[in-house]
Amino acid sequence: MTARILEGKEFSLKIKEEAKLGVEELKNKFGVTPSLAVVIVGENPASQVYVRNKHKTCEELGIRSEVVEMSESTTKEELIAKIDEMNADKSINGILVQLPLPTAIKAHEEEILNRIDPLKDVDGFHPYNVGRLVTGSPTLVPCTPAGCLKMLDLAGIEIDGKRAVIIGRSNIVGKPMLHLLMSRHATVTVCHSHTKNLPEVTREADILVAAIGKPKFVTADMIKPSAVIVDVGINRIAPKKLVGDVDFDNAKEIASAITPVPGGVGLLTVAMLMQNVIKATRLQLEK
Ligand code: NAD
Repeated sequence: MTARILEGKEFSLKIKEEAKLGVEELKNKFGVTPSLAVVIVGENPASQVYVRNKHKTCEELGIRSEVVEMSESTTKEELIAKIDEMNADKSINGILVQLPLPTAIKAHEEEILNRIDPLKDVDGFHPYNVGRLVTGSPTLVPCTPAGCLKMLDLAGIEIDGKRAVIIGRSNIVGKPMLHLLMSRHATVTVCHSHTKNLPEVTREADILVAAIGKPKFVTADMIKPSAVIVDVGINRIAPKKLVGDVDFDNAKEIASAITPVPGGVGLLTVAMLMQNVIKATRLQLEK
């Protein structure tokens, strides 16, 4: 069997089309142009690429976008003061602090991110939004897992009653993915670096989500025949070569559907960010 390849481009275009309609609705009904402010501290080259990409996608969809560049030597207090200023600015609907932060302030990451107004927290990392996700009233949900769920829906993949296994328990991917899949009535197991007999667990999965950060970690023998594989991993193994957490070439012979890397989940993250900016704008208008 050769799996259906779940191309990120196809799904991200659909998500962006929806977002564009949302932007138009906000403009026509409320005279509001949604806006996103992305703060980048320092000169991490990968972060600069991600931020440019977010800015470009905003422009494409008619979302106002502002990139706030702060120097490598920015202190925690200066960054928090900037966030406070943006929280108070009614013309800004979404605030995102690009990670990773420079080493000097990295230890304060939690305090810094928690300073963002929960209604402007388009990354969905604030404890308020995490709490709402856990209790089943999600508002702003982290973009990558939200994108994975949206893709499964758009691809017509059934979740209700399925066995789902997630490898990875990070706050950004693994944990929110657990709650999203559980809220859709999957039976979910979360595996991590201390899980015993991992292949035994992963072979039970109808839907297997890999969010580990280890190239080609998930091999064909860890996959149940006809499983759906969502590969969140992005691993650079050579200057111009990215691979996922799944051994794609062999896995695609066993799975029924699989996301490629690059060209899979990565494209959905930015598209879902745009949807979160629209959602945040609506939440602020309702307040
Ligand atoms: P993380 O480092 O925070 O978490 C990795 C998880 O993998 C941990 O929970 C750990 O317990 C688990 N793990 C590590 N070794 C393991 C092992 N041997 N067996 C089982 N579990 C193991 O990573 P993250 O932020 O969740 O990111 C994971 C991957 O997803 C990375 O490659 C990252 O680049 C990628 N990512 C992609 C996007 C996107 O837009 N597509 C977004 C976020 C993260």
